[in-house]
Amino acid sequence: MTKAAIIGSGIGGIATAIRLAVKGYAVTVFEGSDTFGGKMQQFDLQDYRFDAGPSLFTMPHLVDELFTLAGRTPSDYFTYTRLDPITHYFWPDGSRLKAYADPEAFATEAEQQLGVPRQAVQDVLRKSARLYTGTANTFLHKSLHRLDTYLSTDVLKALGCLSDLGLTTTMHAANAQQFSDPRFVQLLDRFATYNGSDPYQAPGTLNLIPHLEHNIGAFYPKGGMYAIASSLVKLAEELGVVFRYSERVERIRITANQVTGIDTTKGSYDAAVVVSNMDIVPTYRHLLPDQPAPEKILQQPRSSSALIYYWGIQREFPELHLHNIFFSQNYQEEFEHIFRQKRISQDPTVYVNITSKLEPQDAPAGSENWFVMVNVPHHQGQNWEALIDSTREAVQKKLSNMLGIPIAPLIQAEQVLDPLLIEQKTSSFAGALYGSSSNNRMAAFLRHPNFSSKLKGLYFCGGSVHPGGGVPLCLLSARIVDNLVPAPNQVKSV
Ligand code: FAD
Repeated sequence: MTKAAIIGSGIGGIATAIRLAVKGYAVTVFEGSDTFGGKMQQFDLQDYRFDAGPSLFTMPHLVDELFTLAGRTPSDYFTYTRLDPITHYFWPDGSRLKAYADPEAFATEAEQQLGVPRQAVQDVLRKSARLYTGTANTFLHKSLHRLDTYLSTDVLKALGCLSDLGLTTTMHAANAQQFSDPRFVQLLDRFATYNGSDPYQAPGTLNLIPHLEHNIGAFYPKGGMYAIASSLVKLAEELGVVFRYSERVERIRITANQVTGIDTTKGSYDAAVVVSNMDIVPTYRHLLPDQPAPEKILQQPRSSSALIYYWGIQREFPELHLHNIFFSQNYQEEFEHIFRQKRISQDPTVYVNITSKLEPQDAPAGSENWFVMVNVPHHQGQNWEALIDSTREAVQKKLSNMLGIPIAPLIQAEQVLDPLLIEQKTSSFAGALYGSSSNNRMAAFLRHPNFSSKLKGLYFCGGSVHPGGGVPLCLLSARIVDNLVPAPNQVKSV
């Protein structure tokens, strides 16, 4: 059988392994750490269970598709429920809003709680849908780096919504033009953080993101986000994929511009196809040191990172749900801190995710498991120990004020994740969550392609390459790689 080697078992690597196994390759996944999932991990802290990484799940059909592709029934492996409401929003002025899944109910709530005209809310969601359907086939579903992408009718469709594309404006400017209420603008601007960008710099095109959550829906996987990775690994193993843990890849072997295999900490393996799910920067710097690196792409500004406090909280908060956002007073200042000053504002927007709201066994009775996250700069030499302490204090003060009860005495257990640890655990360059940021108009074109134009047999998937970071886009990167890799009988065995 023709051999394929995958470097890394992040969600993109697992999905690619499944696709290539279905295609007929003998697939081995080499993983540097002792388990699968990359950023998608879970852990127990005393009697609390936490999802360590991603917490918001959109586009579940991309997971289902992998089971269907392998001839399985998705629900035999993996189930999820649609969230309604999706998110509870809290502002410093005391206003609150529940973002209902149903666009009508969401518009009514925005009108009742914030005085935003319901028609304008419905219009903005429709516009987001138009943006998404007009551009997804060109920008997300295919390689942007092949001529046939530009020769398809999808490009005409994208050109058809050129006026909506927002290429000449920023996300924030587009939102502020449509809404006079700064709170609703802040709610819409927040979607820039879904790929680690800054709404005051990112192009208005990113205003397609609300469509994913508000029109297609937000979901919760039974068993937590980790169930996405664990159910897919189960499928991969059934298909014969071999996972080799604690086996770091050190080199991609090349002969005459053709991939011939990989060298790991434990041995040397032949492969006609190699797919790197490792961040693109260390892939070139460490695994391909003798090859010319695409410097312009590798030097694109990185996305933001995150500081997370996992807290076991000895109390229940009926006003909170699975996803909760506590907004800052001054959003622009917050993003200036992250992207220009490389610091953390003392009044950050705080995201609190509580899976025990849906899975009571994730926390002891009468308690809740709080995943408390603040967007922060990627690592550029900051003193994280000091930042962890000062941010903890700021977050506790903010949540105590906005919930009307001191939070610190309720914290029974704590674990912290910072950009340095994220880099250490997953080799994500500078601890960025989503590879490069989307803070400029050309960002989509400056992500690395899913293939190498110079080295035959070498492909790339995951959050640091096209089409970008976040679980759904990583799954799409695997689909694109699948479309690029020839059938095994068309590949010269090594
Ligand atoms: P990664 O998860 O980056 O994994 C790469 C794997 O490669 C790792 O297992 C690593 O050990 C392995 N590896 C690296 N180098 C080597 C080597 N040399 N040899 C062998 N193995 C190697 N996304 C969402 O959609 N929704 C969210 O709510 C969300 N929130 C997030 C919150 C946090 C705290 C974090 C960290 C991320 C979040 N994301 C979210 C982003 C999402 O988790 C990532 O985009 C996605 O999981 C990345 O998957 P990946 O395929 O790029 O691989």
